[in-house]
Amino acid sequence: MKFGGTSVADLERIRRVARLVAAERERGHAVAVVVSAMAGKTNELVAWTDGAGPAAPGLPASDDEYDVVVASGEQVTAGLLAMVLRNMGVMAKSFLGWQTPILTDEAHGTARIEDIVPDKLLATLDAGEVAVLAGFQGVTPGGRITTLGRGGSDTSAVAIAAALQAIRCDIYTDVDGVYTTDPRIESKARRLARISYEEMLEMASLGAKVLQTRSVELAMAYRTPVRVLSSFVEPGEAQSDTGTIVCDEEDIMEKRIVSGVAFSRDEAKVTLFGLPDTPGVSSKIFSRLADGNVNVDMIVQSKARTSDTANMAFTVGRRDAGRALEIMRAGKSDIGFSEVTIDDDVAKVSVVGVGMRSHAGVAQTMFKALADKGVNIQVISTSEIKISVLIEAAYTELAVRALHQAYGLDQL
Ligand code: ASP
Ligand code: MG
Repeated sequence: MKFGGTSVADLERIRRVARLVAAERERGHAVAVVVSAMAGKTNELVAWTDGAGPAAPGLPASDDEYDVVVASGEQVTAGLLAMVLRNMGVMAKSFLGWQTPILTDEAHGTARIEDIVPDKLLATLDAGEVAVLAGFQGVTPGGRITTLGRGGSDTSAVAIAAALQAIRCDIYTDVDGVYTTDPRIESKARRLARISYEEMLEMASLGAKVLQTRSVELAMAYRTPVRVLSSFVEPGEAQSDTGTIVCDEEDIMEKRIVSGVAFSRDEAKVTLFGLPDTPGVSSKIFSRLADGNVNVDMIVQSKARTSDTANMAFTVGRRDAGRALEIMRAGKSDIGFSEVTIDDDVAKVSVVGVGMRSHAGVAQTMFKALADKGVNIQVISTSEIKISVLIEAAYTELAVRALHQAYGLDQL
């Protein structure tokens, strides 16, 4: 069982969580619990580290100390939940990342879990006790504290479920499942009873914020069934059809072509004009961006009809836009373009579904729905189970609603 920040925001809610844990034990399950920090806590801690300022020239960067500070939020909630459980008569014991241990690489701030030694947790569960783990944190082989990136407690939970070979990983959060799209934009959005790992992975990386992307990758790799459900259910009420199950495609009976519409406003479009139309130009552009650690998403290139030049547009994360522009300007004479522009008044809207593999006309439905609403498409990209379009930001909500209806998602 994993509980997010809003579910452990104060002692009253932590007591609620404890009742949910106790109810699960009464059903005969051994339970390991992973907790996030109280809502808002991690942001506050990050702000403290910003205030401390960077290391002076010649000294190593303080990323490892950033982790020491921001990991502390989960220490508080893990200890408090164990205390509240004991107060209710349920023996529980907390574990920090280094105590378990949850071993990670040394990428402070965005560490990846490499190994979990489950022995202490298994001993705790075997003794009939609840193991309460601080999410989001781990330890390097050298004994330094790490954190797994924002939203990383989801990944802690899935990794621990996999290491314990749990029958399921229940992610309790402030929404009651995974929806066909954001219900704040489309009131007809429906909760999906089931979604495949692959679809969830696309949805998470395309901007649906329910689960950290890495947690879905892990669940898929280890075939760990994950359930997303609201922590505001009454204890004892979480039945097997509550929430959304993230599972293997084969375990989904109902066949849909499209499962969801996702969108992201965190994009920016970079356009290069007057590129030489010769081999090696793209390689120059994208190796410079890669060296600068800028992730590129969508790409289009077109050749000018009247000259020997080409134009290229690509998208980057909005936070990287400034850096991408600098990198391009620095490479202007080497790459050989005449002009570069940047546009962050854009949004990416995507439809996701494993049914696309076997059905024709899925893209056409999307393009027609957008055309009918007068939405202009700037860039298109596709994968086997996803079609994304880049549009003017002002049309995001209109596009999401039009697509939700076009694929019949309001009638699921
Ligand atoms: N508390 C951390 C964060 O806010 C980890 C998590 O909640 O998943 O990012
Ligand atoms: Mg989260």
